[in-house]
Amino acid sequence: MSKTNIQLIVDGKRIDGRSPGELRPINMKVGIVERADGSAQVSFGNTTIIASAYGPRTLYPKFLQESDTGILRCRYMMAPFSVDERKSPGPDRRSIEISKVIRLALEPVIFLEEFPRVVVDVFVEVIQADGSTRVTGINAASLALAMAGVPMKDLVTSCSVGKINGTLIVDLNGKEDNNSEADVAFAMIPSKNKITLLQMDGLLTKEELHKLLQMARENCMKIYELQKRALKEKYRSD
Ligand code: ADP
Repeated sequence: MSKTNIQLIVDGKRIDGRSPGELRPINMKVGIVERADGSAQVSFGNTTIIASAYGPRTLYPKFLQESDTGILRCRYMMAPFSVDERKSPGPDRRSIEISKVIRLALEPVIFLEEFPRVVVDVFVEVIQADGSTRVTGINAASLALAMAGVPMKDLVTSCSVGKINGTLIVDLNGKEDNNSEADVAFAMIPSKNKITLLQMDGLLTKEELHKLLQMARENCMKIYELQKRALKEKYRSD
């Protein structure tokens, strides 16, 4: 919903100089955390995430095990220094919700049913927050899982889209997110063209939502190429 009326688009350019359909500069590196089975650092502009994955490994205590499937656990956490005003450490409602949606976005690509009684753990740590942390986290988590060798149908690729000052945009930064008329978190399985996350805050017409979903798909395909490149880089350099 329109939270304020501040001007975020001037002469067709956004506050960081981008055009409406432009992603921020993206950096991805796989293999960041030595002790993890798989890990990745992903930055979209000033938003920086480190994700690490552990498993598949036998789940203890035993009563948590599922006899016919493995389980995925995800934890999203913002570092106290990741935002302007120190964030109190520990889980809160927002991080519990985001942990859940990250898990739901990733589960469809993992062959969990082939691993009864096991767990795969994914930790998504926000090092610096400037908008779109959940989608950046999904991209990083997906790379970490792939590096860990967790059997997957494909990567999951994610980006945000939204509306500011009546204009449809991709990849919202923090200021845009806080002042948007609408923002949408989107994730998909590129090879299957299937959506695994769709969350919307604010108001959009049906036509605007359709247009935004198209923009999200197009930009996810660009991000997917960067994800594949980051994975190949890792194994080229080893
Ligand atoms: P997302 O980061 O996935 O877009 P939100 O819409 O909840 O999720 O948050 C938007 C942005 O608001 C974050 O990326 C971050 O820049 C900022 N933000 C979130 N929580 C806090 C907080 N506790 N303190 C300061 N800024 C925050």
